Amino acid sequence: MYAPPGVKTDATFAIPTTMRAWVLGDPGELALTEKPVPVPRAAEVLVRIDAVAICATDLEVIAAGPPALVQGGLPFNKNWTPGHEYMGTIAALGPGVDEFAIGERVTVEIHAGCGQCKRCRMGMYTSCLNYGLNYGDLDKGHRANGFTTDGGFAEYAINNINTLIKIADSMSDAEATLVVTAGTAMYGLTELGGLVAGESVVVIGPGPIGLLGVAVAKALGASPVILTGTRDARLGKGRQLGADHVVNVSREPAVAAVRRLNGGKGVDYVLECSGAADAINEAGRMLNRGGKICLAAFPHAPVPVDVAHLVRNNIYVYGIRGEGRSATHRAEAFMRRKQFDATQIHTHTFPFHELPEALRYARERVEDAIKVVVQTRSVAGAEKPAAAAR
Ligand SMILES: [Zn+2]
Ligand SMILES: [Zn+2]
Repeated sequence: MYAPPGVKTDATFAIPTTMRAWVLGDPGELALTEKPVPVPRAAEVLVRIDAVAICATDLEVIAAGPPALVQGGLPFNKNWTPGHEYMGTIAALGPGVDEFAIGERVTVEIHAGCGQCKRCRMGMYTSCLNYGLNYGDLDKGHRANGFTTDGGFAEYAINNINTLIKIADSMSDAEATLVVTAGTAMYGLTELGGLVAGESVVVIGPGPIGLLGVAVAKALGASPVILTGTRDARLGKGRQLGADHVVNVSREPAVAAVRRLNGGKGVDYVLECSGAADAINEAGRMLNRGGKICLAAFPHAPVPVDVAHLVRNNIYVYGIRGEGRSATHRAEAFMRRKQFDATQIHTHTFPFHELPEALRYARERVEDAIKVVVQTRSVAGAEKPAAAAR
């Protein structure tokens, strides 16, 4: 029986002592293993993972390592579990935790900052200055599950209470895994100023963050919201999520199209989610003077930037990392009120033991996969665990 000292459990919610967990061996190699169920400390809970979505960053981490940083280095052959976009049910409470109850359904943010550095104090916990300093003699309290600490491709995970968002019973497990993606888009729009009602917004790149960026911008009242990309099917999803206009840039030059659709003028904000090499220059030319760019994706090699254009036009450039400033809570509030249907981007579901196939679908975009979700609890009643009936 799982009954660590000081940890609150519930007889109605039995927890085994070991769990199934995928671990990363050499680059690209995942193996399904048994691990001890981890033990929550103060301000932490044990989450039974019910579903986990696959992110492009998971694919990078598994294949190449960064941005994962495990025990100060590459994540390979360290008995480490990737996966970061998960949701589940509170299974046990660390000492002193009374903010959550066993049986409550939650989704998670990735980053628990150290809470003591300058950036954490500003709400920028995704840029914690003690990032990854949580091994050996170092224990700054920082966790980024699926990056620096064990993540969600397992049956259980430890989460700091600050990373938990309660979800409504009406939200499915799969939809709940998308909250953090919407939260990342929300963080980008937050950093751009947040007050985008009535302002014009372009989203470049209809990947998961871009598509939910359209939805969040629209929910925040932005008008018009214009989405640019190269694939008509993805742009169609963007329309369903609220884009006023979509532009297929393989048929029309992006900058000219955006200006045409915005009454001949530049727009106020660009959320760059494509990572294309020339995206920052295109974004700069889409904007009016004093406009703002948020970079939420990046090219893998350095790119030339027309700095003079940015300076002469007083254009602000922001970079965001992850889902800071509690943006995920605001995204969940929109989703709870059904202001957009994030499940539009959920295309495929796999059971836990088929994770490698799920990753292949995401990597190769099999059947135009956008978000692939792994249902960790692949039982009929997984959407509503019996123990949550309190
Ligand atoms: Zn992600
Ligand atoms: Zn910190």
